[in-house]
Amino acid sequence: DNVPPPFTSFQAIGLPSEILREVLKAGFSHPTPIQAQSWSIAFQSRDIVAIAKTGSGKTLGYLLPAFRHLMRCRNNPQLGPTVLVLSPTRELATQIQDEAVKFGGSSKISSTCLYGGAPKGPQLRDLDRGTHIVVATPGRLNDILQMGRVNLGQISYMVLDEADRMLDMGFEPQIRKIVKEIPARRQTLMYTATWPKEVRKIAADLLVKPVQVNIGNVDELVANKSITQHVEIISSMEKQRRVEQIVRSQEPGSKIIIFCSTKRMCDQLSRNLSHQFGAAAIHGDKNQSERDHVLNQFRTGKSPILVATDVAARGLDVKDIRVVVNYDFPTGIEDYVHRIGRTGRAGSTGVAHTFFNDQDAKHASDLIKILEGANQRVPDEIRDMASR
Ligand code: ADP
Ligand code: MG
Repeated sequence: DNVPPPFTSFQAIGLPSEILREVLKAGFSHPTPIQAQSWSIAFQSRDIVAIAKTGSGKTLGYLLPAFRHLMRCRNNPQLGPTVLVLSPTRELATQIQDEAVKFGGSSKISSTCLYGGAPKGPQLRDLDRGTHIVVATPGRLNDILQMGRVNLGQISYMVLDEADRMLDMGFEPQIRKIVKEIPARRQTLMYTATWPKEVRKIAADLLVKPVQVNIGNVDELVANKSITQHVEIISSMEKQRRVEQIVRSQEPGSKIIIFCSTKRMCDQLSRNLSHQFGAAAIHGDKNQSERDHVLNQFRTGKSPILVATDVAARGLDVKDIRVVVNYDFPTGIEDYVHRIGRTGRAGSTGVAHTFFNDQDAKHASDLIKILEGANQRVPDEIRDMASR
């Protein structure tokens, strides 16, 4: 399959001047690899399945072609949206919505965000006003579909963002129901960080002769080399004291994410830390307004320490996170790479501290591969555990 050559500059895309102006205003010097590839393929109206890790700039990869698509088909937004973006969580959906407004707003492109855990009223009113783009989590969009309050019959450009994550979260039935409402004559773009067989299956069902793009190596997980990874052998009892030391040794106000494996541990640790530092917890038991509040406090630096579970934190785009602490080792090495990828984004450097002990020994050899792949030091104890 011949893949068209990637775009090497924003100017080369031929964007309307208002949009190009916004992109340049954002200070981006050149497209990321996933953007360069997505644009050239999407502009040929072909389906895409792109495998790329978080932080690679996927959002503009599909939004800029969506804008161009909208300008070409000029549907009446009163009759229903033309572009649909599905995203796994409310936080991610709102981030996409923000980008759509930031980059498309000056061209009078309207976007509406639909997500669960918030009242439907305002979302329905936004829809009634007419919208070009809908960014939605699958659950809430389905609810609104069932109420008969949105017409997807005009959708001709559909994006499945973080498809693997949506499937992990059990959204497959909802996605399939939604797709039934969308005309088959459409362009479909699917983005995923991993490429397991469930994702391959849904790609085979929903895309037509897609161009497949791999950014980075899929089979071999690769950690960002600009992140310094420290692995510390430490007993469970010592963790609390050590995490306080790490926090204290940062410049005041530095943003830190601490990952724990359980919701209870998240709450407990954030309570303990908040006596001395601004800390808050985010996990699946928090309702949406609590999650919003916590994330906002974190983003703005009011509470610079975020204690999180994997579910709450994957894909989050918060800038300038200096340090990631793996208080508990994750259940798999993929999550390790995702977690530490919260720092060192878009070219900045970051540090990851990982607590590791005998309970985690089964991950030792995977961890060694990742550390070596990123030219990081491997503690002898970890090698011992791997060889046992
Ligand atoms: P992903 O969806 O792949 O996780 P995002 O689209 O959220 O990535 O982008 C990650 C970060 O990189 C965002 O802060 C975004 O503003 C920034 N970014 C996007 N495109 C570029 C670019 N071309 N150059 C530099 N930074 C970029
Ligand atoms: Mg994203």
